[in-house]
Amino acid sequence: MIYGVMGDIHSNYDALMAVVDELRLEHVDKILCVGDIVGYAAEPAKCIDLVRELNCTVVAGNHDYAVVGKFPVNYFHADARDAVVWTARQLSNEYLDFLKKMPLVEELDGITLVHGSLNHPEFFDYIRTVVDAQLSFDLLKTPICFYGHTHIPLVFYLKEGNIHVDRGHVFDVKKADKVLINVGSVGQSRDWDLRASCAIYDTDKMTVEIRRVKYNINSAVQKIYSACLPAVNALRLM
Ligand code: ZN
Repeated sequence: MIYGVMGDIHSNYDALMAVVDELRLEHVDKILCVGDIVGYAAEPAKCIDLVRELNCTVVAGNHDYAVVGKFPVNYFHADARDAVVWTARQLSNEYLDFLKKMPLVEELDGITLVHGSLNHPEFFDYIRTVVDAQLSFDLLKTPICFYGHTHIPLVFYLKEGNIHVDRGHVFDVKKADKVLINVGSVGQSRDWDLRASCAIYDTDKMTVEIRRVKYNINSAVQKIYSACLPAVNALRLM
């Protein structure tokens, strides 16, 4: 079985299309999504449509829940908040219902999905340090967990009680007792690599590869300007 894993799409349809094309070329059997389909960029409905069409297993991100009033908008900085308010106005009830019904955590086939952290997933804390990773490892019941939220691909793995960090682009799952894998962001990279990020998990080879994908950044930027969303949301993509 080959899984494609993606998240933090943030209404960037140009990036999402590029990632989906890449995953199709890899003949993935199923796509998993670690949340934040919406927020920041200009095409929330098209992104939700595609995630639904692909029949992704998906968990909610803080932006998804903020748009439907399940997470307080005052936790966001102004530019993210403006995009949340704008997004809520763009979406019909059918779309809002879809976002509202997304769960915080999903488990399937030895895989756990969460947006921020397993420790109180409803607070959307970040897993950035070994201490954060420990809190999630304590609650993780499957060998592997995919997450997002920081927009930076990173692996924490547990081996004989110790937590290690791995920043390579292919991770050998066999060397870990349990592993937390941040798949990076499709629609708003924050690690100085402007390409979209996703992961490919091959359950036969037991490897997870972080894949970076070029997309039409200019097109995404122009759509953000045309929608009169905060300019910084466009500048961040460049
Ligand atoms: Zn995000």
